[in-house]
Amino acid sequence: MRALFPPLLCVAVSAGAATVAIDVGHFIEEPGATSARGRPELDFNRELAADIESAARSRGVGTLLIGADGFASRLTQRTADAAGADFFLSVHHDSVQPHFLETWEFDRVERLFSDRYSGFSLFVSRKNRALARSLACASAMGEALRGAGFSPSLYHADPIPGENKPFADRRNGVHYYDNLVVLKTAGTPAVLLEAGVIVNRDEELKVQSEEVRRRIAAAVADGLHRCLPGRRTNAGAVQ
Ligand SMILES: [Zn+2]
Repeated sequence: MRALFPPLLCVAVSAGAATVAIDVGHFIEEPGATSARGRPELDFNRELAADIESAARSRGVGTLLIGADGFASRLTQRTADAAGADFFLSVHHDSVQPHFLETWEFDRVERLFSDRYSGFSLFVSRKNRALARSLACASAMGEALRGAGFSPSLYHADPIPGENKPFADRRNGVHYYDNLVVLKTAGTPAVLLEAGVIVNRDEELKVQSEEVRRRIAAAVADGLHRCLPGRRTNAGAVQ
């Protein structure tokens, strides 16, 4: 029922402003992690991406929403679609390594959860052609998130199988993840955001609440607004 979903690409660009491609992580057939209460990550990503889009636009940043229809199954197509943008932000929510998962019952269904970790994390690839700008923006987003009261998760740097993602900026929760497809194939600076850990029972509820989601979106948009090239006026000055 493809017609029920919005078009693949929604473009809203302010004249002269930098444009951010906001990528909704995952797609319907492979919806990513499953939350502690059984909700697919794709649904969290879609809602947060829409809020980030609104927050970016209200700060004068142009936006290009990618994958919101849930049919973007080819990762390289996502970055190809973002070729006209100035920045690529992939929006995700996090899980943990499978051996940390425990079971509980929610709504009479046995579900997997782990309350061991919480927080956001950000990733950049050293294979991206604009690493310096990618890292500057990841750090700016992490700093803005910390300023809004959120904490980096830090566990992706743990020396265990499946993690081992070294810190690029520990203070702001930024890791190197060189082979992430969307980061290394983007022709623009690119960052992947894990906004929170949805297998954590408390954090799932927090990131699902409209109030928290909007605070995350506002912080992300503030960070982007701060790190992207200044908007040019008619006189050519950079604001
Ligand atoms: Zn994901």
